[in-house]
Amino acid sequence: IDEMPGVTESEALATLHRIFGYDAFRGEQEEIIEHVVAGGDAVVLMPTGGGKSLCYQIPALVRPGTGVVVSPLIALMQDQVDALRALGVRAGFVNSTQDFDERRMVEAEFLAGELDLLYLAPERLRLDSTLDLLSRGKISVFAIDEAHCVSQWGHDFRPDYLALSLLGERWPDVPRIALTATATRATHEEITRRLNMPSARHFVASFDRPNIQYRIVPKADPKKQLLAYLREEHAGDAGIVYCLSRNSVEKTAEFLSRNGIEAVPYHAGLDAGMRAAHQSRFLREDGLVVVATIAFGMGIDKPDVRFVAHLDLPKSIEGYYQETGRAGRDGLPSTAWMAYGLNDVIQQRKLIQSGEGDEAFRRRAAAHLDSMLALCETATCRRGQLLAYFGQDPDAAGCGNCDTCRTPPETWDGTVAAQKVLSTIVRLQRERGQKFGAVQIVDILLGKRTAKVIQFDHDQLSVFGIGEDLTEGEWRGVVRQLLAQGLLAVEGEYGTLALSEASGSVLRGDREVPLRKEPKKQAAARTTSS
Ligand code: ADP
Ligand code: ZN
Repeated sequence: IDEMPGVTESEALATLHRIFGYDAFRGEQEEIIEHVVAGGDAVVLMPTGGGKSLCYQIPALVRPGTGVVVSPLIALMQDQVDALRALGVRAGFVNSTQDFDERRMVEAEFLAGELDLLYLAPERLRLDSTLDLLSRGKISVFAIDEAHCVSQWGHDFRPDYLALSLLGERWPDVPRIALTATATRATHEEITRRLNMPSARHFVASFDRPNIQYRIVPKADPKKQLLAYLREEHAGDAGIVYCLSRNSVEKTAEFLSRNGIEAVPYHAGLDAGMRAAHQSRFLREDGLVVVATIAFGMGIDKPDVRFVAHLDLPKSIEGYYQETGRAGRDGLPSTAWMAYGLNDVIQQRKLIQSGEGDEAFRRRAAAHLDSMLALCETATCRRGQLLAYFGQDPDAAGCGNCDTCRTPPETWDGTVAAQKVLSTIVRLQRERGQKFGAVQIVDILLGKRTAKVIQFDHDQLSVFGIGEDLTEGEWRGVVRQLLAQGLLAVEGEYGTLALSEASGSVLRGDREVPLRKEPKKQAAARTTSS
């Protein structure tokens, strides 16, 4: 309004105002958009909710031709296109959910130059027919969304993404922008290399979400712990509770509903109608809790999610960050709460061993899990650990807004305790050729004459009862932390305990084992329900 004569706002800014109705760009959006509008390649790392979409939508609108968006989220394309059309943007998509006529219509629009944006699933670009179609139209920009899918080391690898490197060869004059919300430094380099974008400019937004308070508590009676947490801190709030299995999703949703908290289940086993209904209730209503598997959340843009709770351990820090990142997009205080216990570690280690995939895949999965476990067991700032994982320098003084900053956990020298656990396993294996799970090992250490101890004569072992100085909860904590630190291994379908490569150094006394103290309350409780 008060512009100096002759100085007009950029076309990008004008588009932001006119089409999207926003006042100003956020963070690095403007720089990214100007760079791409000018024809440059870009690799953009921005946390979920950071505003990545505008970074390619506006260049697509400003530059002549159609912006081609490659996205693996087929289920969201219809919604994305509908939302754009409601703003007056000429958008369309081509994917396997369409029939022949629908597809032909979109293709005709593209060829006639009547589309601003065209969304494509990556597998489409394997087809000669698609490449042929694209070369007969005019393309303004290629956007590669969820670009981390190109990384074989990532948690979400999609082989079709590898073919995207040909875009630069076939269309050298069309700028490309690769975007992702989950990338470590290594993934970041891999994206650049595999998409063949050596001259791209890199834009890395901060991954910190300062309004999210991170907390990880020892699992005792998870449903009750969850209920107490919701009642005390989130009465009437909207939030998401993540569980690993469909069964626990159902049970947890029922349990919350029975206890006066409005909750609905969401998982891939429910029929599509019910899933859609629960999702739209969550978006529209205030204060609904969705209990879900990780199938829920991709592309969900609800600003006032006040909490994300995990009743089971995520498989990787990327997953944890993405899921917790759905809280507090409006910038208001929110919490990310997780209950985590010994059985989580055993279960996840077992899953990796018995799961599909080759040796390299298993090693990768194990490395992802190890980082996640290190976050759970850390005695220092959780936010600092998260940021360091994503290659960002954390605040050395701690964040002041996570559980470890607020109540620093005490540590103790667990070397002798660790030796007791390991030598019990050695005795069973060497003297008797037997393998047992955590429950039996702990019972032996505590000198408990349970039916199973008597049955196997375990009260005759020299290690029987050598652990009476700690409680059962504390022993489970020791075993859990040894597993998390890789000083103990899990084997076979029953999850029996075994020595790991690193166990020897502990047994020989060459290595100290600092452990976190278990909180008194949980340490006393019997923790079988985890
Ligand atoms: P991402 O893809 O990075 O998760 P989105 O592109 O979906 O994020 O944007 C998240 C939300 O922020 C959307 O509701 C979007 O409309 C909004 N948004 C993005 N940029 C701006 C801006 N400059 N001003 C206001 N709102 C914005
Ligand atoms: Zn902290």
